Amino acid sequence: MIQRPRGTRDLLPPESRLWQAVEELARTVFASFGADEIRTPAFEPTELFVRSVGETTDIVHKEMYTFEDRKGRSLTLRPEGTAGVARAWIENRLHDRSHPLRLYYIGPMFRYERAQQGRYRQFSQIGLELLGADSPLADAELLLVLHELFTRLGFDDLQVHLNNLGDPEDRPRYQQVVRETLAGRREALCSDCQRRLDENPLRVLDCKVPSCQVIVADVPPVSDVASEASRQHVAAVEAQLERLGVPFVRNRRLVRGLDYYLRTVFEVVSPRLGTNAVLCGGGRYDRLISDLGGPSLPGSGFAIGEDRLVDVLPEPFKERVLGARRLYLVPLGAPAQAEVLALAREWSRAGVTVEVELTGRSLKSALKRADKEGFAAVAILGDDELAGGVVAIRDLVASSQQVMAAAAVPDWWKGRG
Ligand code: ATP
Ligand code: MG
Repeated sequence: MIQRPRGTRDLLPPESRLWQAVEELARTVFASFGADEIRTPAFEPTELFVRSVGETTDIVHKEMYTFEDRKGRSLTLRPEGTAGVARAWIENRLHDRSHPLRLYYIGPMFRYERAQQGRYRQFSQIGLELLGADSPLADAELLLVLHELFTRLGFDDLQVHLNNLGDPEDRPRYQQVVRETLAGRREALCSDCQRRLDENPLRVLDCKVPSCQVIVADVPPVSDVASEASRQHVAAVEAQLERLGVPFVRNRRLVRGLDYYLRTVFEVVSPRLGTNAVLCGGGRYDRLISDLGGPSLPGSGFAIGEDRLVDVLPEPFKERVLGARRLYLVPLGAPAQAEVLALAREWSRAGVTVEVELTGRSLKSALKRADKEGFAAVAILGDDELAGGVVAIRDLVASSQQVMAAAAVPDWWKGRG
């Protein structure tokens, strides 16, 4: 038997309904703040990610699905969404448009990681990018939109962790601090961290190896060496969040796994997710577009891990989605079967979720199935009903039965709430 590749998943009903509902709500909330969707390719030239995410990050160093096509071009399945959006912005000359521009995306990302619960090789992200605004207000809006989405999903226990990474000009000074602090303990670090210490010391702070985390705890926080301008920026973001009542905590140890971030960085953490607790990551990336050869354009954004989000969805939201009412339309006999789809079309156009019995089940067997499958009601269409333009409705929730005009069913359906 052929099996799916390791680290990938089949999303089956009814769980796929949760995914749809989450995406629908995300689209609604994003659009209500002026965002539009962007769809970029699932693969890009490898160089795009090397230059944006950063050569020495874990993603580029060991997690990318990179391959040569038939003409020998090096391509990579996108490991994240921001680089593609930045490339598209430059390539499609979006600087001609009025800014700021709010762009969101929903789609699969690919990383060669150790597969486990909440960590997949194909996973989905819901991301929002805000391009062309360098103000603290822009970061605050992003966090507000994020908070709004999570609130409408019914979360009340998520934590936003916020930090200041400083400006790129602060980076060399901080790298020096990290190197000096860890100089005497180099041998105690994992081999990855020893390499990071040489190539990109900031990355050491991101190491997941417990013994490294203990050692790294002595390194002064990155925000200690941050420029005054970046401090004022992040302080202004925090002031906005306080005014809005968007809860956050200052996490001075937070760095992110991608090189393009500066100043504001944040993560959303769920207490209900064990080791893969991070539901969302984001921050400001004012140099990304110019680093990729475009004009100077500030930006900030976030990406939610949809797989992890769906894993911890609040029960009321799940019940609302999975408990959606369905009507089971059962034709009895050939004349009813001839008419049943036209009737289903009429009801479906009027907003009824109607599922037609297609296999010629007897009434008894159909009722049994309706019970088992959790239909809210059964509409029975036999010879007599057909002749009278009516259907017999069995309300399985109220345990009642009645005959009504077929045309009246949509109103009745809506009325029962
Ligand atoms: P982690 O620290 O868990 O590896 P990350 O910092 O690599 O996460 P980001 O690049 O910030 O993740 O991506 C944003 C979000 O995408 C993460 O917060 C997470 O929810 C989700 N995500 C990242 N990698 C995976 C994966 N392999 N499987 C499922 N979700 C993922
Ligand atoms: Mg990762």
